[in-house]
Amino acid sequence: MRAVVVGAGIGGLVAARLLKRAGLEVVVLEAHTYPGGLAGSFYHRGFRFDAGATLLSGLAPGAPLARVGEALGIAWPVEPLPLGFPLMEVLLPRGRLLRPVGREAEREAQRDFFGPQVLPFWTWQEDRAKRLLEVAHRLPWPPEREEVGLLLGLLPGLLPLLPDLLRRVSRLAPSAPDFRRFLEAQLLISAQHADPYALYAALALDLPHLGPALVPGGMGRVAEALAQGLEVRYKARARRLLLRGGRALGVEVVYGGRRRGEKEVVEGEFFLLNVPPEPLLGLPGRAPRDGWGAFVLYGVLPFAVPPPYYRQNARERPFAFLSLRPEGERTVFALSLHTPLAPWEGLEGEAYRRLKALWQEKALALGEALLPGLREAEPLFAATPHTYRRFAGRAWVGGYPQTHPFRFPRVRLAANAFLVGERVFPGQGVPAAALSGLRAARLLLAHLGVDPLGTPGWPWPSCPPAP
Ligand SMILES: Cc1cc2nc3c(=O)[nH]c(=O)nc-3n(C[C@H](O)[C@H](O)[C@H](O)COP(=O)(O)OP(=O)(O)OC[C@H]3O[C@@H](n4cnc5c(N)ncnc54)[C@H](O)[C@@H]3O)c2cc1C
Repeated sequence: MRAVVVGAGIGGLVAARLLKRAGLEVVVLEAHTYPGGLAGSFYHRGFRFDAGATLLSGLAPGAPLARVGEALGIAWPVEPLPLGFPLMEVLLPRGRLLRPVGREAEREAQRDFFGPQVLPFWTWQEDRAKRLLEVAHRLPWPPEREEVGLLLGLLPGLLPLLPDLLRRVSRLAPSAPDFRRFLEAQLLISAQHADPYALYAALALDLPHLGPALVPGGMGRVAEALAQGLEVRYKARARRLLLRGGRALGVEVVYGGRRRGEKEVVEGEFFLLNVPPEPLLGLPGRAPRDGWGAFVLYGVLPFAVPPPYYRQNARERPFAFLSLRPEGERTVFALSLHTPLAPWEGLEGEAYRRLKALWQEKALALGEALLPGLREAEPLFAATPHTYRRFAGRAWVGGYPQTHPFRFPRVRLAANAFLVGERVFPGQGVPAAALSGLRAARLLLAHLGVDPLGTPGWPWPSCPPAP
């Protein structure tokens, strides 16, 4: 019994590992030369840079990556950050606010900076985040027919949360302008929207308390750990999903590298797409009107920089997010900005270069406020929505802005084909993509009579031990 997974992003790899562990033959087709997609790392002039994700969280007991790690029997190649560690600094009009690891430390930092009036908001946030985390790894949303029972089983835990599904976080947050600015900036990076629905916001703001960790060598190490032991065919670009009578039969692939130009139909009994499905179905892809692209400036500084390794400029717009990774006496950085997609569309040649130079200058000016000396970086280069389209297969990155919980596509494409990845899970980032892998594998295994649905806890009792 073979499962074909298209795309070696985090969602695809987690699903592939779980399916392999459950005894299926699994083939992963990846267009690029390394795993991880938007959470991969690439080499440039001898240095390793993160393609997208830089900040990993979710390793605390019960948090998504801890659960996925348990299910896979995998030890993540990370260095967990201790309580009190200065995780992130947010530059606001009134000064610099620290987000340390751990709730107590953060409550103190918030009280000192904004005043005690913000504490009830954090009490609400903590309660909702904890309740949501209890169900997140089993949440089938929107449910497929196989999952209705599971969802009904979760309802008692979800009912108290319902009001926060239907209102925006701004309805609950204190109105102090600096606090609003802080929320807006933080939520933009974790929810792709400055004012998401309150329940999602509660979880997104929990990042420093969910077990953040550094990934020595770059975020790509996580995907590399996941890819170990899997049959991943690199430079294998899927062109089309072959369907007949509502079932998927195979994936048409064109190879690069040593097999350049060679075509093959990779057949299987099940298919998981960790990529935008439209091109594979011969349909035009469309980003939502409020979907974002990314502009990222990469560089290497000739000096070591102390923590915090994550810094956000929320004093000026667009908000810039700086991630630093120590490499001996040097520091590798990625400075990312949200960019609307429209200005980049159809741009070529000189017009494209001009816009790119404009954004580079803008990014450097915003970045210098976070770390003076950024301009000294060597090498210094940028990725734009064009770059993401070319290397990650999509210009629209970050998934659906979390404006309400009903805007996710169904995961089923055909009777035996499902979508997996950040776009089809209510949540974003590496932890959400990993949970989507968990869900996809669970859905697929339900078809084989390995029925974990409704089974509380994880791993499934019927799962064989890891090889
Ligand atoms: C700038 C930026 C910063 C981010 N920062 C963070 C962060 O700090 N923390 C965090 O948790 N998350 C962050 N994220 C989000 C995180 O990277 C993503 O949520 C996550 O990596 C998405 O995983 P995915 O499973 O959806 O797959 P993707 O990463 O989209 O992977 C899809 C894979 O499919 C491959 N592919 C595409 N088309 C084809 C095809 N036709 N055939 C074969 N293969 C194909 C791609 O090469 C890729 O490897 C960031 C994202 C960006 C863009």
